[in-house]
Amino acid sequence: MNAISRMLDNAARDAGRPPPRLLAVSKTQPAAAVAALAALGQCAFGENYVQEAAAKQAELGRASPVSAGQEAPAGLEWHLIGHLQSNKAREAAALFDWVQTVDRAKLVAALARHRDPARGPLNVLVQVNIDDEASKHGCRPDEVEALAAAIAGEPMLRLRGLMVIPTPHDDPELGRPAFRRSRALFDALREHHPGVDTLSMGMSSDAAIAIAEGATMVRIGTALFGSRPAPPAAPSYTGR
Ligand SMILES: *Cc1c(COP(=O)(O)O)cnc(C)c1O
Repeated sequence: MNAISRMLDNAARDAGRPPPRLLAVSKTQPAAAVAALAALGQCAFGENYVQEAAAKQAELGRASPVSAGQEAPAGLEWHLIGHLQSNKAREAAALFDWVQTVDRAKLVAALARHRDPARGPLNVLVQVNIDDEASKHGCRPDEVEALAAAIAGEPMLRLRGLMVIPTPHDDPELGRPAFRRSRALFDALREHHPGVDTLSMGMSSDAAIAIAEGATMVRIGTALFGSRPAPPAAPSYTGR
């Protein structure tokens, strides 16, 4: 993990930017792998599926994953980075500290309704479909302002910024324009929403370029944990 942190810090220094936050993407990894990184001081973890996160959190010490008012185990901060169906909003609002995949008004309302006030506001990022891919989740860039306004109007949500998953390229350099467009959108959003401080972009293969273009948080799985185990045939990891 130290090697990764150093790589990220170097990329930021080379670009004259502040070092980004590291989100450790623990999807498909066992709870023991999370505990091992937490012991090294890593506190923010990203999961793609509500069900998988619930099981892992329970294993790490949260007695009853979705009961009200409980904190995440051992000061860990959990981020949902996978697509969220509205019918899972209640569970997500209970299990996560951040939801990075808010891309429609219905989800804003559902998360706000279900967030337990005892937990404090849920941090949210608007997910933007920055490359306008038909198959991708995320709102259009021209929908960001309206969604941001809806989030800002909900006391139980805290608008923190934007999350993007640009089209993957064999040559990561080809992703640079999408990161640059994302940063411009982020800077525009900050003009109306001074609390916005997070631009989540960049994964194992393109983190350095994302950082150079202004990511404030990178989401790293493979480079931290090694390649992911093949998903099991059983539905336990799919959340469906
Ligand atoms: C899996 C995943 C990551 C991490 O990808 P790696 O290539 O393993 O670093 C980051 N963001 C999202 C949304 C993911 O689903």
